[in-house]
Amino acid sequence: MTAERDPALQASDPEIAKLIADENRREHETMRLIASENYASRAVMEATGSVLTNKYSEGYAKKRYYEGQQVIDQVEELAIARLKTLFGAEHVNVQPYSGSPANLAVYLAFCKAGDPIMGLGLPAGGHLTHGWAVSITGKYFKSVPYGVDAKTHRIDMDEVRKLAKEHKPKLLWCGTTAYPRTIDWKAFREVADEVGAVLAADIAHISGLVCGGAHPSPVGIADVVTSTTHKTFRGPRGGMIFCKAQHAQAIDRAVFPGLQGGPHNHTTAGIAVAANEALQPSFKAYAKAIVDNARSLADELTARGFALTTGGTDNHLMVIDLSNKNVSGKIAAQALDRAGIVLNYNSVPFDPRKPFDPSGVRLGTPAVTSRGMGKDEMKKLADWMDRVVTAPGDEALLAKVAAEVREVCARFPAPGLRI
Ligand SMILES: *Cc1c(COP(=O)(O)O)cnc(C)c1O
Repeated sequence: MTAERDPALQASDPEIAKLIADENRREHETMRLIASENYASRAVMEATGSVLTNKYSEGYAKKRYYEGQQVIDQVEELAIARLKTLFGAEHVNVQPYSGSPANLAVYLAFCKAGDPIMGLGLPAGGHLTHGWAVSITGKYFKSVPYGVDAKTHRIDMDEVRKLAKEHKPKLLWCGTTAYPRTIDWKAFREVADEVGAVLAADIAHISGLVCGGAHPSPVGIADVVTSTTHKTFRGPRGGMIFCKAQHAQAIDRAVFPGLQGGPHNHTTAGIAVAANEALQPSFKAYAKAIVDNARSLADELTARGFALTTGGTDNHLMVIDLSNKNVSGKIAAQALDRAGIVLNYNSVPFDPRKPFDPSGVRLGTPAVTSRGMGKDEMKKLADWMDRVVTAPGDEALLAKVAAEVREVCARFPAPGLRI
């Protein structure tokens, strides 16, 4: 095809081309601390931006509803084989469009509308799709959220057991979106067995840590394990489900035809590439470095008077309660953003403030670790955060910090960016 009939993006759509260039620059020049974000590699993005986006392939390998699957079946089977090796799973489904649809497939596989289900409440660090009221999962199921201990802010297994015995959930979710500690999968297994619940572990945030050996794995303990593919796992945006062989058919049928039509084959290829990257020895070092960096940053912040929920972190993220700094989470997050430090405002356990302007912020180290940053940069980050949070309205200070951030970022080129 000639360039005239099939022009490159810059020629075809300069407005979008410019916006992509702007985002590329923003991701280069800022400290990205949003705990769910990362930098996908150039290889992952090449696969994701490939001709595989053109193909329809409803069904599963060798059982498709359209012809022309000579290549697609191999792509999907390769992704599945690599993930089986990586996670030690009996069965893998790579078709969910993202983390939320993966979780919906679990409901569809094991529950009927109105069934009792349990998950960690959103303010305590759980995900919307674990039964929070505004989500379809809170509207179509009888959701009983459990929480964290008022003093320690850790998941309260006594409460989980008490509520489970009382409400007899069909489905028990474990796994979190804003919780800085290791999850005790076996403790959840015991409760699930005591009440006859299906145990679902959602490792959306930590799947990169799990397959990199930096967090215990729920595979083989939980009946079903869901994950996104774009957080610590560092693939394209997508979802995946691991389960025991006995649940394979229920899960596959729930994803297709239960919830979705054709799988996103370009994404499946990107997931396969990410899985291959995760199988390399360097990925273990990356997973460990994420946790080491989080610990360094937590120590540096604590030394500057920041109050971390649970008092620290075991994983890639931390939640800071800013009440003692006399600034709300939102004011702090917005000032930090102007200073080139990007994170999100977040409720803290038992937050007296509203979710739209809560008391805390959440931050994590996956993206900065992917750039190769370490202890020195974590110390700088804590310093910058301290200065900004102390004077969030001082625009001259914010601009000065932003310039210092840009200088450090220039020394750590990120995977996947064009600079
Ligand atoms: C991010 C996340 C999801 C949802 O993933 P999306 O891809 O945003 O739909 C589900 N569960 C948990 C625990 C998450 O952190």
